[in-house]
Amino acid sequence: MVSLLKKLIGSRNDRLLKQYRKMVERINALEPEIKQYTDEQFAAATLELREAYQQGKSLDSLLPKAFAIVREASVRVFGMRHFDVQMLGSIALHNGKIAEMRTGEGKTLMATLAVYLNALTGKGVHVITVNDYLARRDAEWMGRLYNFLGMSVGVVVPQQDNAEKIAAYQADITYGTNNEFGFDYLRDNMEYRAEDRRQRGLHFAIVDEVDSILIDEARTPLIISGQAEDNTELYIRMNVLPPMLTRMSEEPRPQEPEPEGDYWVDEKNQQVHISEAGHVNAERILAELGLLPEGESLYDSRHISLMHHLMLALRAHNLFFRDQQYVVQDDEIVIVDEFTGRLMSGRRWSDGLHQAVEAKEGVRIQNENQTLASITFQNFFRMYEKLAGMTGTADTEAYEFQEIYSLETVIIPTNRPMQRLDQNDQVFKTDAEKFHAIINDIKDCHERGQPVLVGTTSIENSELISNRLKEYKLPHEVLNAKQHAREADIVAEAGKPGHITIATNMAGRGTDIVLGGSIARQVAEIQTNPDLSEQEKQQQLEAIRAEWLPVNEQVKQAGGLRIIGTERHESRRIDNQLRGRAGRQGDPGSSRFYLSLDDSLMRIFAGDRVRAIMERLRLPENEPIEARMVTRSIESAQRKVEARNFDIRKQLLEYDDVANDQRKVIYAQRNEVLESSDISETIASLRVAAITRMFRDFVPEESMEEQWDIAGLTATLESTYQISMPLAEILENETNVTEEDLLERVLEQSRVQLEEKIQTVGQPNWSNFERAIMLQSIDMQWRSHLLSLDHLRQGIHLRGYAQKDPKQEYKREAFALFSDLLDRICDEVVRVLMTVRIQSPEAAEQIEQEKPVMENVRFHHSDYDAALSGEDPGIDELPVDEVPRVGRNDACPCGSGKKYKHCHGRIN
Ligand code: ADP
Repeated sequence: MVSLLKKLIGSRNDRLLKQYRKMVERINALEPEIKQYTDEQFAAATLELREAYQQGKSLDSLLPKAFAIVREASVRVFGMRHFDVQMLGSIALHNGKIAEMRTGEGKTLMATLAVYLNALTGKGVHVITVNDYLARRDAEWMGRLYNFLGMSVGVVVPQQDNAEKIAAYQADITYGTNNEFGFDYLRDNMEYRAEDRRQRGLHFAIVDEVDSILIDEARTPLIISGQAEDNTELYIRMNVLPPMLTRMSEEPRPQEPEPEGDYWVDEKNQQVHISEAGHVNAERILAELGLLPEGESLYDSRHISLMHHLMLALRAHNLFFRDQQYVVQDDEIVIVDEFTGRLMSGRRWSDGLHQAVEAKEGVRIQNENQTLASITFQNFFRMYEKLAGMTGTADTEAYEFQEIYSLETVIIPTNRPMQRLDQNDQVFKTDAEKFHAIINDIKDCHERGQPVLVGTTSIENSELISNRLKEYKLPHEVLNAKQHAREADIVAEAGKPGHITIATNMAGRGTDIVLGGSIARQVAEIQTNPDLSEQEKQQQLEAIRAEWLPVNEQVKQAGGLRIIGTERHESRRIDNQLRGRAGRQGDPGSSRFYLSLDDSLMRIFAGDRVRAIMERLRLPENEPIEARMVTRSIESAQRKVEARNFDIRKQLLEYDDVANDQRKVIYAQRNEVLESSDISETIASLRVAAITRMFRDFVPEESMEEQWDIAGLTATLESTYQISMPLAEILENETNVTEEDLLERVLEQSRVQLEEKIQTVGQPNWSNFERAIMLQSIDMQWRSHLLSLDHLRQGIHLRGYAQKDPKQEYKREAFALFSDLLDRICDEVVRVLMTVRIQSPEAAEQIEQEKPVMENVRFHHSDYDAALSGEDPGIDELPVDEVPRVGRNDACPCGSGKKYKHCHGRIN
């Protein structure tokens, strides 16, 4: 089936290339005309093209001219003329596809054509690089070209302030890493003012090394987490209050004297309601405790959070009991699952309830970390109107790109024929024999003056080889994947005669190994030196080249770059990446993988077969087996692992899709609130919804009067929304009052009450206040919802026993949770607005400024944390075959400090 697919893709690929070639002919035909341009004419031409676009011309129709202009500009700025194959690649990008081009074919320059064309829209083009170093380098390097063309370039990197970020996103073209773009998106959705948002829409992104971002990193989402403001003190002080207030023996009933007491408990809804008397008492005690200034009301806008804490304390004391809802264990409150009775270690009630219970039990109050926002790369990049990618190795994953991202892969031919010699794998019986052979190969290259790049699958193995080389006094460099700038320096030297460089998979990608060493930096320095005349520049450039050429020739004679693989990766693509570093632009080069039966891939998938072969051949020690058959059986093992990983990613995505749809809804709502100056209509409909819902709890639709609980309704309206209405009296005195009429009256009363409040503070202040409350409530409820989804996902596999499809169950329950979330936002906003007392316009403004304080805000992604702290991340993802060996309760090997089952183990 695979080969059939290949054939189909193959012929489709040819057809596409044929189309693209026609386009290239049209571009080339324009070259003589554009050669006549003066330097100044390029920026003017850009303006013309922009105008043509504004007047309705499609980008497709502008493509030939735009590409021709960029090519000529590049000749003037860099002295590099885009090859025709680079044109092909960039046409693919413009068409929203993945251009697969071999390493060293010049993807950085290739992309400029499609970037320029799409930037004509003025909507912003994002170029995604693998690390910050490359983002800066490419923005600066290619920036010279774009500036020449009259376009602006920005770069986004961590630790920029907001103004810099906003400016960078305003540019026609913005460079940055996937992490930075993703985190900025999340940050924008946590802002409290529209003007603080950084991004201006997601229009077109070109993702460099698209396979590593959309496939390798697909399993680790971006997460922003933080701690709520530390209110430990407040929880403890508030905890003394509930025992000082009295609980009513029963709910109050109208027309009957109110029972003695300060509050009553609504067990059905897990709520506590405070009576008028309770309110007065609470205010008095709070004032005595120094928590509430004398003479101020708990309903004041300033004291919303105090009120929240009071309710938490009352709920903790009246609805949650030790050894029923929770147990106390090792100075911690552990929740008991209400259905199964199991202990739910590590889980916490949200919204401060857990802390209130901790205060009640006198255990340590934990200010837990909360997920504030999170997204996976898949879902982030799928939001772009148009997405394109480039890489040296997409072919093996073409199916996944198509299936999941609807991205088609186009394989672009090389500019010059490939000359690299890929030798068959050599398989040894033991690791010791394998490493012996590797060292011999390295030594041989070194002595013959051939540069060699040794690829390993782990940092540990890199060190192992490095130590061996030290024993033999062989000079070498080790690429550390986290020092990108230094890495580029090492790579620039890696092609010099006899140089030895060791690298783990990702290290040094995006920088090109040039035979004889790279002189790009010296060239750039000369070209940009303002003190040199054109003639001097030419002379110096020639001198450098003259020095470099014989070295380059020497390395070619020695066989070009030699690639040595020390283990097969579980994915063929990663192996191809390593091989791809040799044989650039028609250079000579060779590659070989050394394996042993001890390698994990061999052990698990191909070992028995290969061992049997080796034994049959009775190979002596240090004698490897090297046969096409063995290489093939290893490849088929890799295919199996790839398929399994694909399934895992797809599963994960299906789960994530649920959260993603909900996130889109919430963020869209949030943005609407941010962008409109007046949300009173929204608030009005929330008010109607919330009050109607409450009303219907007591007076069900189409019910008989006997079924109505007017007493309950009256009391609850009063305690929740401060709506006091003599409903029983109304019903008694007036005949023919239907339930509809009653609801109408309640709604009308709520409208009037709100209207009065607006009059006191003035419409503009009130509008700001509404917006602030709405945003706070969306954010708070969304965060606790994220936690619930997490718990749901962790627990859902238990349902499997009941013969239900966990994914379907998850979807169903997540939907239910989401509609609860929307109800909660609605209820909370309306409750706060109905009950709040604002003395003066200033008080309203004060609330508006109150963006909830979060402490210790952290940005998590395997790479990102490490990049910020300068540490090595270690393992960020477990090879699949390692998974069963970690106990569910062991610490997760990724180093997060969490238990395995709560971290990477969750996937299983
Ligand atoms: P890739 O990312 O495809 O591996 P790079 O973008 O790093 O390759 O480019 C490799 C090298 O080729 C760079 O030094 C670049 O300057 C050079 N190069 C790219 N395109 C051209 C061209 N059209 N003419 C001359 N040199 C080029």
